[in-house]
Formats: sequence, structure tokens, C-alpha cells
Amino acid sequence: MVHVKKLRKAAAFLLIAVTLVLAGFMPKAAAAGVTSAAGLVSTSSGALNVRSSAGTSGAILTKLYAGTYVTLITKTGSWWYVEYAPSAYGYVSADYIKYVYGTYAVQVAASSGNLNVRSGAGTSYGVIGTIPSGRTVLVLSESGGWDRVLYNGTATGYVSTSYLKSLMAWPAPASHKINQYFSSAHNGVDIGSSVHGVAGDSVTAAMAGKVVYAGTLDGYGYVVYINSYYNGQPIQTRYAHLMSAPLVSAGAYVGVGQRIGYMGNTGESTGAHLHFEVRLRNSSADCIANADSTPVNPLNYVK
Ligand SMILES: [Zn+2]
Repeated sequence: MVHVKKLRKAAAFLLIAVTLVLAGFMPKAAAAGVTSAAGLVSTSSGALNVRSSAGTSGAILTKLYAGTYVTLITKTGSWWYVEYAPSAYGYVSADYIKYVYGTYAVQVAASSGNLNVRSGAGTSYGVIGTIPSGRTVLVLSESGGWDRVLYNGTATGYVSTSYLKSLMAWPAPASHKINQYFSSAHNGVDIGSSVHGVAGDSVTAAMAGKVVYAGTLDGYGYVVYINSYYNGQPIQTRYAHLMSAPLVSAGAYVGVGQRIGYMGNTGESTGAHLHFEVRLRNSSADCIANADSTPVNPLNYVK
């Protein structure tokens, strides 16, 4: 009986371990229904195939046409995982997708349950759809209290800005331990590793955006800077003391929740942790200098 019990325990442990590993590899953002970034289909002729897997051998699920927007979730190699219809997902070749920089994800928070989508920026325009509260959409542009949004994968329309809430995802999915809070002497928060002192937890992008620095820098050790927008405000997130060289390079565009490196102990650090910063940028430029941004308390932004 002891052996059976042990086997059962081992089997249960294995199941949990496998589930955790799979969860780590699954495009988490899609599962949570979290929108990441907007892409513009830019085929020179014909349509872009949406496939069931990240390769030309994947079955064709549908086609997208040049000039249409599509919701990008996360990038794997040269393929984007996209939402192409409400809660329907597939892969497209990144060669034919123009990343629309400057868009940002927001969550619909309408008290009545559904938010009206209109054909233009104002209540005089007709209602062309509705978006349920809790759904995330992407802001493509803003004008006078109305935002043009991308929703349901490829649909666009106008919604009132007052029912939208900006989103930032937690950058260390395996741990919510705070070892050190933000202060005038500490520009970010320190997030402890899931197992004390052990490096290797995934570090993921808190917002979709453009990698403007990836490498070693001063006391940061291995660090990644990502420039994004939060409610239209240019913002920068920094992820420091990574275990090893980042998984992304400067110039790359990343999706929210995309793994960019592993929690570690490089630079001026005493023990494995993530030093996470949120900084308000002074301009929309691809700045990286400290003087070009102001650090703010990440816990006022991140979920
Ligand atoms: Zn720190």
C-alpha cells in the first residue's frame, strides 16, 4: 500500500509539474483573453493565411486581407499568434504584419454590462456592435473623448474613452512576493523568486511594446527596457538582474506576457529577484537615458 501511495503521490506531482510546464509554454495572454498589440496586414498581393500552427505546414483557418487590422497576441520566431475572430486564434507569418506601434490594451468597464461601438467619434453615429465589460481591446487612436479601438480580433469602431481602463500585467507570473518597495532611493519594486534564492523564474513583458535596450548595463546586470503606451502616456518598463542574456533584442516588438528572460542575480544584486521599474517617458522617442523618463511606483500600474 505504501508503494501505491508513493506512486499516486509521484503521479500527482508529475501531473502538476507537466501542467505547470505546459502553462508556461501556452500563450497565456490568449487564455486570459488579454489583447496585446495591433498589427496591420501588409501583403503586397493576395491574402495572408492564418494557420493552425507556427509553420507553413499548419492548416489554413482563414485568410486576412491587406490593410485590415489584426490583434497580435505573442510572437514565436517569425510567427505571430493572433486573434482573427472573436476568441478564435491562429498563426500568421510575421513577414506580412506591420506592428502598429503606439497602440495599447485597455479593459472595457461599462456599468451597464455592454459598451456600444459606433461608426464614428460621437453619439450621433450609429451603433455597429457592442463589447462586454471585462473584455480587452486595443486603442488605435484617440480624439476628443472617443477612442478608435480594435476588438473581436479584426473589428474596429469608436467607443467612449470614459469606459476604458488601461492594463499592465504582472512581470513575474510565478511569484507575487515583494522584497523591496518603491521609494525615492529605490526606483522600482523587487519581486522575489518563487523558490527563495533560486534563479530561473520566467520574466515576462508587462506591456506590449518595443524593446529599446537588451543586454548588460551598470548595476542592472542583464536588463531589458521596453517602451510602451499606458492610456496614451509614453511609458517604459525595465526588468533587471536577469539570470542570463535576454531572450529578446533591441528593436524587437513583444507581446504582453511574452517571456523576455529569466529571473536572476546579475549586476548589483544580492539573491535572485526581479527589479521591475515603470517610468513615464518625457516623449515618444525611443529614449533609454534615465534623464528621459521619471520612475513611478509600479504597484500603482501593474495588476
Ligand atoms: Zn530593486
